[in-house]
Amino acid sequence: MSRINPIKINKPEPYLLQAEWVDGKKAIISLEMLRRECPCAYCKGEKVGNKVYSHPIEVKEEPGAFEVKDMKPIGNYALAVMWKSGHDTGIYTWDYFREILVKNDITNDAEALKLQAEKYEKSKKKIKLDVL
Ligand SMILES: [Zn+2]
Repeated sequence: MSRINPIKINKPEPYLLQAEWVDGKKAIISLEMLRRECPCAYCKGEKVGNKVYSHPIEVKEEPGAFEVKDMKPIGNYALAVMWKSGHDTGIYTWDYFREILVKNDITNDAEALKLQAEKYEKSKKKIKLDVL
């Protein structure tokens, strides 16, 4: 299988991530979904064969949980995503990245886009209250 690297990644809204690939495919997902699909051993649990070393965990909805602090390509094969919550062990290979974006694409889902916008507004309010 040939690897497909995105040619463009951007954030059309502070809570959305958009990518475009060389074959013309485009997709938008929420940062919340990107976070929930974090492939690291801590989030997804660790299993070798049938032996379970650790179980997957639920993402805590804490401030900054779904906000990206930084994103960096790793070599030519993956993207590292650092979250404002401090979680920074997620390495998304380009194959996996494309898979989750295409699977969770909400480009044409007005309902989902609206829901994400509302969630984002709500989380901003929550953070403000926490500061007070
Ligand atoms: Zn993780």
